[in-house]
Amino acid sequence: MAKSVVKAKYLIIGNSAGGIAAAEAIREMDKAGEITIISDEPYPAYSRPLISEYLAKRCPLEKMLFRPADFYEKNNIRTFLDKKAQHLDIDKHIVELESGEKIRWERLLLATGGLPIVPEIEGIGLKGVFTFTKLDDAKAIDEFLSHYGIKVRAIVIGGGLIGVGVTEALVKRGIEATIVEMKERILNTILDEEGSTLEEKTLTEAGVEIITGHTVGKIGSYLPGEVTGVNLDDTRPIPCELVIVAIGVRPRLDLAIGTGIKVNRGIVVDHRMATSNPEVFACGDVVEAHDFIYGENRLTPIWPNAYMEGRVAGFNMAGVPTEYFGGTALNSLKYFGLAVASAGMVNPPDDSYEVISNRYDHMYKKVVLKDGLVVGMVFAGDIEKSGVVFSLMKDRVEVERFKQALVAEDFSLASLPEEMWRARLGMPNSGFLPPTILREEPEELVLGE
Ligand SMILES: Cc1cc2nc3c(=O)[nH]c(=O)nc-3n(C[C@H](O)[C@H](O)[C@H](O)COP(=O)(O)OP(=O)(O)OC[C@H]3O[C@@H](n4cnc5c(N)ncnc54)[C@H](O)[C@@H]3O)c2cc1C
Repeated sequence: MAKSVVKAKYLIIGNSAGGIAAAEAIREMDKAGEITIISDEPYPAYSRPLISEYLAKRCPLEKMLFRPADFYEKNNIRTFLDKKAQHLDIDKHIVELESGEKIRWERLLLATGGLPIVPEIEGIGLKGVFTFTKLDDAKAIDEFLSHYGIKVRAIVIGGGLIGVGVTEALVKRGIEATIVEMKERILNTILDEEGSTLEEKTLTEAGVEIITGHTVGKIGSYLPGEVTGVNLDDTRPIPCELVIVAIGVRPRLDLAIGTGIKVNRGIVVDHRMATSNPEVFACGDVVEAHDFIYGENRLTPIWPNAYMEGRVAGFNMAGVPTEYFGGTALNSLKYFGLAVASAGMVNPPDDSYEVISNRYDHMYKKVVLKDGLVVGMVFAGDIEKSGVVFSLMKDRVEVERFKQALVAEDFSLASLPEEMWRARLGMPNSGFLPPTILREEPEELVLGE
């Protein structure tokens, strides 16, 4: 029997940072319009960056939830969880689920995130090979480890954010881990050489083996179906039982492709987060949105950007014109105790950029400037004031007069010219500064909303 068509004024595909932010923004503006969220994951929205903590057994699902358990009910949001949206009919305004259900929408949001990139190498389908982008991946690895005990040796292919994050979780579980990174240094897209060196030193001291300049050519097995080792691209063998593929994530474009919605590396959106179809919006890891440092649309797949883009999309879907200022790469990490924050352009492409840096007591601070504006930063060890530098970067503040202070050991809000810190603290320019105010600085970068 044909299933009936469900109607939704607002249909959101993706129940994560972007989707939830959009649903909240819509509800703020439209108290009654039907909102439906579809997700092929079975869980209420959770904080994806915390899946490493889940694997490390430091954070159960209840603590990972992005919103309280009654969020959907309280906001009158219908959910289709554990259901995949299979096909999008743009002309009829219908999304068909894998289960056969159909949903007719007035406004649609694609907040479908990304999919892990999986290389086509021999042995990739063996038991013991995993990707690491969702809670079910963490659960599957956890189950695998429980079965094998702690004698497992792991190869992590890829030394980016996801690879290093999962490595830390494995080490916390007592697993011997090796990172194989194709480029010459780990975390190479979000850190400069010095930052990567500090990270590599910290990981090595924690017992992680790091192999750079190589990749895995083959995953081998001499037991039926199970991993027993890998061969690097130079044929060097490394024994292991577990392989985690963490070479990157690409936008999940399947629903958009073939619909006429303009797609480049990600879905192309304007400042309102509208796609080339004015009734379809998109946000988060699946889009190329405005990057205020590069002045162009780019993939910036981080949680705070997905969230902000989602809010902008939601307001516009509810008929309230809103523009996205733009985001940029922004990361705050703490692997094996080393705090690092980076943002924007960390590896300037040519000499037209000015680089100012400082090293002291195992700390490292660097800012990248272009025409007197901060366009990139790397802070390692002491990241407490990185939020101040990021806000100068975001607000496009001319820093020429006090640029050296930005990397100084004692840098604080008080290092800025008086009119600036007053404006940042919301104080009038009276000329009198109570000493306590100096301590009221923005908190360090916090990922999330
Ligand atoms: C391990 C890991 C660590 C990370 N750490 C950080 C960090 O420290 N800081 C940071 O800022 N960012 C981090 N990120 C990135 C951050 O999680 C993402 O930027 C953010 O989750 C993007 O949100 P989103 O809403 O765009 O998409 P996603 O969070 O990817 O969610 C998309 C959802 O849509 C669902 N979906 C897709 N297609 C369909 C379909 N056809 N039918 C039904 N459902 C569908 C997906 O299953 C998924 O649930 C990390 C990511 C990973 C994987």
